[in-house]
Amino acid sequence: MHPKFVADAMVAHLARWLRVMGYDVLDHTQCGEDDAEILECARSTGRVIITRDEDLHARAVRAGLRSLLLRSGEVEQALAWIAHETGIDLSIDLGRTRCPLCNFPLIRIPSAEVDGAPAHVRERYSHVYVCESCGKIYWPGSHFTRMQATLARAREVLKKLKSGESKEGMGR
Ligand SMILES: [Zn+2]
Repeated sequence: MHPKFVADAMVAHLARWLRVMGYDVLDHTQCGEDDAEILECARSTGRVIITRDEDLHARAVRAGLRSLLLRSGEVEQALAWIAHETGIDLSIDLGRTRCPLCNFPLIRIPSAEVDGAPAHVRERYSHVYVCESCGKIYWPGSHFTRMQATLARAREVLKKLKSGESKEGMGR
């Protein structure tokens, strides 16, 4: 299942997470910051709204749009709730990863062919991932390892949500 999302400015950090997991997420820099712009973006492109704004969420529901109101700003809780509601996979598949900054799909390129890759990266990784839109280069370094740990915790939260043990203050 590959739902697409639009994130309001308060959950921009979640947009970056979802993109790394391979999901198509537009944010306030792409859709606009006004509620009306976010609603129109969701309507015209069939996206699920993710927000911490109760008013925006209520307007979305009234307009018949799919919206997830995130009551926790914590990454693990929020991602678990999004997965609970939409069935997204809480893992990183580097073949699907999008640029966390601009949402463009990344392309895998031999690191020797990438001028901007630092020497230690070229030595260690045969391939890197490049965003053709903003030019940023990515590789699975220590930050990636920390992200994997966060996602493992999010999957634990999701397990609890599924078993009904804990709502963790989340809501629709
Ligand atoms: Zn980019």
